Amino acid sequence: MLYHSTNNSAHRVPLKEAILRSLPPDNGLYMPDTLPTLGADFWKIWRELSFQEIGYAVAEAFFGEDVPEDALSEIVDGTLEFDAPLVSLTPQDHILELFHGPTLAFKDFGARFMARLMAHLTKDEDRMLTVLVATSGDTGGAVASAFHKVPGTRVIILYPKGKVSGLQEKQLTALGGNISALEIDGTFDDCQRLVKSAFLDRELSESLNLTSANSINLSRLVPQSFYYIHSARQVEAEPVFVIPSGNFGNLTAGLLAHQLGLPVKKFVAATNINDVVPAYLKSGDYQPRPSQATISNAMDVGAPSNFARMKALFGDSWDAMRGKIEGYAFTDEQTRAAVREVKSTFDYNIDPHGAVGWLAAQAWREEHPGDTTITLETAHPSKFLDVMEQEIGAGIVDIPERLAILADKEKVALPMPADEKIFRDHLVSQA
Ligand SMILES: *Cc1c(COP(=O)(O)O)cnc(C)c1O
Repeated sequence: MLYHSTNNSAHRVPLKEAILRSLPPDNGLYMPDTLPTLGADFWKIWRELSFQEIGYAVAEAFFGEDVPEDALSEIVDGTLEFDAPLVSLTPQDHILELFHGPTLAFKDFGARFMARLMAHLTKDEDRMLTVLVATSGDTGGAVASAFHKVPGTRVIILYPKGKVSGLQEKQLTALGGNISALEIDGTFDDCQRLVKSAFLDRELSESLNLTSANSINLSRLVPQSFYYIHSARQVEAEPVFVIPSGNFGNLTAGLLAHQLGLPVKKFVAATNINDVVPAYLKSGDYQPRPSQATISNAMDVGAPSNFARMKALFGDSWDAMRGKIEGYAFTDEQTRAAVREVKSTFDYNIDPHGAVGWLAAQAWREEHPGDTTITLETAHPSKFLDVMEQEIGAGIVDIPERLAILADKEKVALPMPADEKIFRDHLVSQA
């Protein structure tokens, strides 16, 4: 299979380049030349299949031409070492819990698959693969955990000093081994700028064998389609999927699942006040802008990086896109009220990101009372303990063991000013 850039369908590269390079030189995003579908044989038996079997069928549809069967099933099995249970608040109102992985966010699915696929694609090279990742919170932890101890790889994480939560910081800085962290005296945007400068430096990028791990990488999206199919098979009606969104990787993965043949009535894009996509769906006018801070901070994105893929999937047609996707946006005040309401009505602890989704699901079903919604719960509520305790009280949200033990681990990070030259010198010293 070849992959082309959303900016230029004539720029085509093989799988290895699309995954390791992550971003085409023209700043588009890689898409498969032909979008795969799963055949009638699959859709005859899909409700009977296990999560792993679904994962394997999807991975094969995308990567089967390029990755041998045994390697691919190892990658899928290694990714899916935990479940994604569906919890029913009412017979029509379902929550898909995507936080049962090692770092308690849905990003574990994509990061674990990507790490294993990259290790496979580079297994015959004697050069170390260096993964650079800038993070404002969840991505860095998921990537660090996914690549930890993967032979032939190392990860360098850049995070903004004082701007990630204490436990998030430990997820980035306490693993050791092939994972190292740079604590940048600046903002998340500074971290991203430093990472970009390293990629633009061709010589440096070649000599260090650099690759990127953010959600523009296609290999993070494909495994996220697994759980759309896995959850849809557990409800009878054609579901409406509600996706709390920031960079829209998760929603794009849902579109890929639909493209594979999964019946989906509608996708609902749920955002906080960073509502660039819901506003576009209403007006047809796409206006990216600087992000604003909210309590659902993993969705504080003003220029969603997967928007180009969404547009490409609908042939650049606004009408086609809004035929399949509806958008809703909510304020922090509404989100806090939803956290309280879900607790008092259903005795369920929903985190602020999931709460934005739950609000959108209610809004949708108000207009379409017969519909069944599946809302993606993207993180465990203990990751946002401050907000949870403010709304539902202290000592109510359990902190899972794998998060709790981090509190006593030692933070190891190299402090660094947000300076391209100093960053470059550091990378060279690591070559
Ligand atoms: C990353 C993240 C999101 C946003 O996902 P996108 O794929 O970027 O839209 C939502 N919730 C949580 C908890 C996240 O970590």
